Amino acid sequence: MIGAGGFIGSHLCEKLMAETPHTVLAVDVYCDKIKHLLEPSDLPWNGRIQFHRMNIKNDSRLEGLIKMADLTVNLAAICTPADYNTRPLDTIYSNFIDALPVVKYCSENGKRLIHFSTCEVYGKTIGAFLPQDSPLRQDPAFYVLSEDSSPCIFGSIEKQRWSYACAKQLIERLIYAEGAENGLEFSIVRPFNWIGPRMDFIPGIDGPSEGVPRVLACFSNNLLRREPLKLVDGGHSQRTFIYIKDAIEAVLLMIENPARANGFIFNVGNPNNEVTVKQLAEMMTQVYSNVTGLSPLETPTVDVSSKEFYGEGYDDSDKRIPDMTIINRQLGWNPKTSLWDLLESTLTYQHRTYAEAVKQAMSKSTAN
Ligand code: NAD
Ligand code: UDP
Repeated sequence: MIGAGGFIGSHLCEKLMAETPHTVLAVDVYCDKIKHLLEPSDLPWNGRIQFHRMNIKNDSRLEGLIKMADLTVNLAAICTPADYNTRPLDTIYSNFIDALPVVKYCSENGKRLIHFSTCEVYGKTIGAFLPQDSPLRQDPAFYVLSEDSSPCIFGSIEKQRWSYACAKQLIERLIYAEGAENGLEFSIVRPFNWIGPRMDFIPGIDGPSEGVPRVLACFSNNLLRREPLKLVDGGHSQRTFIYIKDAIEAVLLMIENPARANGFIFNVGNPNNEVTVKQLAEMMTQVYSNVTGLSPLETPTVDVSSKEFYGEGYDDSDKRIPDMTIINRQLGWNPKTSLWDLLESTLTYQHRTYAEAVKQAMSKSTAN
């Protein structure tokens, strides 16, 4: 599992250790999020998970590890919107160039590959180009994103979110071509905003103070510091959020059912959990108040421009509703957890994990 030390990787490792007999060769440059699975040495899954600290960009051990495994799961990527504008070259290299050897070694050695792409490959919805008041905007044909029929609609080159999407799309096409020409057994996963504990970092606590993580961690940080949640360009964009534990069930089904998963691209999301970013902020404010007993802030949100928040050249996805037909037919999988419930367990975790550290960091900076 490459990228095993990240958010999704840590949950997948946990699931594989707790509920299956599989052995995992965990590859990443970091292991903080899976430390609890590696130590102490008397854990029940002792010997079934092995951490290999390496950067796949430049490490000759990669092919040997792929040869040792039956299946490679590739999660490694730069995949945070704040990075797309500020580190566009790293983003393109990470999502396309660095994934090339992984695909090549799997294909040449006859090994199965589950590759993590993104819902971003769909780009904007067709409906986004209709007039604001067009009734067709309400028609699912203009916004539901289907693996085998929706077009991929990207913005212009200087809007660098689409460089991430384009790099992911090209590696999908390459994997598909390896399947068609050389018989590579593959599945491609397109995650739709998977969220939950251990996602990204809290700036200044377990990540850089000036860093900008994805929205769950940004809003958690604001709530922990009791400051208003920042709505980029009004928070009008829409997202469907899925609980990480539901999504991991889908990945496990892919791992365990190669005959039904090979050759497919799968949307993995929860179409029932759609909100605008503004609604997400309001819901998180309410849930955080419920789980902590703290009163909600008087001014819970504040508007910021995307230029101020992310810098020049930011663009957004308007709406992301996954079509669930293929994953439902092939794997019989459906998401279960409501947005309210997943926010309750996630914000309980965030509070328990970070509240004390944030309090200390804030009192230190006031004293200084
Ligand atoms: P993450 O950043 O938490 O995890 C990625 C991991 O890959 C990190 O631990 C990082 O250290 C590792 N990595 C990156 N480059 C590496 C390299 N060169 N060598 C070794 N390790 C490297 O992100 P995540 O949310 O767990 O996402 C995993 C995958 O899923 C990514 O490919 C991402 O594009 C895709 N994805 C996730 C979401 C989501 O909702 N979380 C949405 C769309 C796509
Ligand atoms: N966003 C926001 N405030 C924040 C962080 C993000 O309004 O503090 C918005 C961002 O502009 C986007 C949405 O939240 O519209 C989701 O952002 P995220 O970084 O989670 O990733 P994306 O879904 O865009 O890939």
